[in-house]
Amino acid sequence: MPPIFQTSTYVQKSPGKHLGYEYSRSHNPTRTRLETNLAALENAKYALVTASGLSCMSLIMHSLPKGSKVVCGDDVYGGTYRLFTTVFNDLHEFNFINTTDLKSVEAALKEKPAVIWLETPTNPMLKVSDIQKIAQMAKRYKVKVCVDNTFMSPYFQNPLNLGADVVVHSLTKYINGHSDVVGGCMMTSNKSIYNKVSTLQNSMGPTQSPFDSWLVLRGIKTLAIRMEAHQKAALKISKWLESHPQVESVIYPGLKSHPQHRIAKKQMSGFGGMITFFLKGGLRESKRFLEQVDLFALAESLGGVESLIEHPAIMTHASVPKKIREEIGIQDNLIRLSVGIENVNDLITDLDFAFKSLKKIK
Ligand SMILES: *Cc1c(COP(=O)(O)O)cnc(C)c1O
Repeated sequence: MPPIFQTSTYVQKSPGKHLGYEYSRSHNPTRTRLETNLAALENAKYALVTASGLSCMSLIMHSLPKGSKVVCGDDVYGGTYRLFTTVFNDLHEFNFINTTDLKSVEAALKEKPAVIWLETPTNPMLKVSDIQKIAQMAKRYKVKVCVDNTFMSPYFQNPLNLGADVVVHSLTKYINGHSDVVGGCMMTSNKSIYNKVSTLQNSMGPTQSPFDSWLVLRGIKTLAIRMEAHQKAALKISKWLESHPQVESVIYPGLKSHPQHRIAKKQMSGFGGMITFFLKGGLRESKRFLEQVDLFALAESLGGVESLIEHPAIMTHASVPKKIREEIGIQDNLIRLSVGIENVNDLITDLDFAFKSLKKIK
């Protein structure tokens, strides 16, 4: 096992001549091990590990020339939306569009943005965008494509192989998988992008601690079997929910009813562990449902071995203005599940109990 280099500085041979490592804000051997591992997972030449997913995105935004146009999916992670609309809106010009609609994508690319930022599947509506088609179009307009691949993990989807220039992950989620680390990373085979972003990281400072890098390395060892378990249980639960009389509709890329199921099958080798569903009722019923589940922990975040449940309108996407939330479809009866690796029948029993408790308030 790689040791944890709990080291901030390194002895030099002669002034200015170090032995590969100088200072841990710049580089640390444990973090280097993780970066080598992550680059391999996304078939990239370079990977950069950062303090969080959002700090990685911040570095990428800082690497663009001031006043750049950025096209972004309209249904991205709430924190990404907040970062772009309240922090980087002073530096760049953002255009939020529905990236599942290739006509809107082409129209936006014609405006010569510096980058198109995709999240697929999106959070929480699980909309799937065609990475390969968008990357082909973007190349024609000389626009760089950046994909937030957090929901699928490198196990189920590899955007660089589909033509994207940069992949970003929140390591906090599936890649670490144990809800005990916050971290982020970027993978790319473009040397100039990598150099710019890693220089900015050294200058600005959002690096990851060696212990956290070590934990993520350990988490990655089980990424494959965790992802298989997440998906197997999520498929079963999504089908069970779809046939439930108290459910209005279910969104899961693995269901035939998913509007982009065909694209999902083409570009992903699995469908992941995230499910979104609309229960029959409103805010009162949703709150009650979330209070009644027991095995599903009521908490933000996702991608850990323990199942989580949350209410996007009140919790993860509260920073998205109500009007925009409603346009996207984040309504009060929308519930998001991150299916863990517990016994799937226990998870279904838990949800069933919560549905039964709703009948009592009618
Ligand atoms: C959590 C998350 C992020 C942000 O990552 P942090 O590690 O929390 O900073 C970005 N994108 C997606 C899709 C996420 O789920």
